[in-house]
Amino acid sequence: MYQIIKQILSTGIKTEAPPQPDDTLRVEIQNLQEKILRQLGSALAIRHVDAGSCNGCELEIHALNNAYYNIEGLGIHFVASPRHADMLLVTGPVARHMEIALKRTYDATPEPKLVVAVGDCGCDGGLFGESYASCGRISNVIPVDIAVPGCPPTPIALLQGILTAVTGGTKSGNDAK
Ligand code: SF4
Repeated sequence: MYQIIKQILSTGIKTEAPPQPDDTLRVEIQNLQEKILRQLGSALAIRHVDAGSCNGCELEIHALNNAYYNIEGLGIHFVASPRHADMLLVTGPVARHMEIALKRTYDATPEPKLVVAVGDCGCDGGLFGESYASCGRISNVIPVDIAVPGCPPTPIALLQGILTAVTGGTKSGNDAK
């Protein structure tokens, strides 16, 4: 036991020091949460669809589910079926082999439904663009209400996109096929 304590004392702390709190960010999150609560009242069910992402956007969506952002406390939750969803959160350029699946997912989502395109790829095709393997932007396949740029967008940017979608606006996906 003495040897272990001696080794701990001689080794010291090897983990990264935690970052300093950012009060500006805290205010931003609180403002967003208040606005979301006011708009939603009770709940928003989101179905996430990976239409061909590199998985970078998924990591940020995963981070959005951290307790830190408290989206469950706001009544925002992710569901496994489009039939239970109010909103589709779609990532990636649309891979050709996902085109039909994305259309079917959109059709299976009950009205009124919202679509948020995530990331540069979702907004304009990003790094991958349009090719024999990629349909490019989400709005090339289904109507999109909100496009959140970034490669990948931060959790706060995603929350802002969700908030913007639920506060109304015009459809931007009129070019959908
Ligand atoms: S926007 Fe960036 S992180 Fe997101 S799928 Fe495209 S390349 Fe990946």
